[in-house]
Amino acid sequence: LIQVKNLKKHYREGTIHALDGVSMDISRGEVIVIVGPSGSGKSTFLRSLNLLELPTSGEIIFDGVDINAPHVNINKHRQKMGMVFQHFNLFPNMTVLRNMTLGPCKLLHRSRKEAEEKARELLKRVGLADRADAYPSQLSGGQKQRIAIVRALCMEPEVMLFDEPTSALDPEMVGEVLDVMKELARAGSTMVVVTHEMGFAREVGSRVVFMDSGKIIEEGTPEEIFDHPQSDRLKSFLAKVL
Ligand code: ATP
Ligand code: MG
Repeated sequence: LIQVKNLKKHYREGTIHALDGVSMDISRGEVIVIVGPSGSGKSTFLRSLNLLELPTSGEIIFDGVDINAPHVNINKHRQKMGMVFQHFNLFPNMTVLRNMTLGPCKLLHRSRKEAEEKARELLKRVGLADRADAYPSQLSGGQKQRIAIVRALCMEPEVMLFDEPTSALDPEMVGEVLDVMKELARAGSTMVVVTHEMGFAREVGSRVVFMDSGKIIEEGTPEEIFDHPQSDRLKSFLAKVL
């Protein structure tokens, strides 16, 4: 689905190598979990995938098209990627339902009725059917994040990108958000997830990628990464987080 080739992102005239040659193949239905220390380039990688950051060099082939090339319609490709951030980024002045139907109506040209039906179905799926008319300020952190996830799903993305979706949540709300993500994974969604939740990585990840200093240091199945780490850097990272 996505092939990333030798992606680099430099800041400050090249003094900071946030991404230093990252290559990755993402196939349909895979759940890729990216772990690594702070500042290792995980967010930069996710943001580069949908061109929220413009890469310094490298290729991102999405559905056969190099979306980092000049003259491609970035918005068209961005629509195929749903993104969920640490902070929920819901529109505060709109109800939950309108948050969810705005994109499909404006960008996918769905009728309001069709968009609302789809939104209500997704709300039911995450146990929030009764909150359709609430405003974001009336929801808990965990509820907001579940809404952010289903709002992204309303756009019927081909891949879902998550950047630490649970790190801003109170501990008792982490589980409900991870449960929604597990359900998505079981349903076969393609997902790229940056997280510090090692339990999730182990249980749900089809592949775990360990990044440090803008590079992929090691990748493999959860068993390979957590039970048989090869590099010293991964070993010392795991010693700190497990
Ligand atoms: P964390 O776990 O703390 O979220 P991360 O792995 O997501 O870290 P990034 O946010 O991708 O790391 O940052 C990678 C590197 O790029 C860091 O050294 C960071 O300081 C640098 N960086 C990120 N964004 C910018 C920017 N806009 N300008 C300059 N440097 C940046
Ligand atoms: Mg980050």
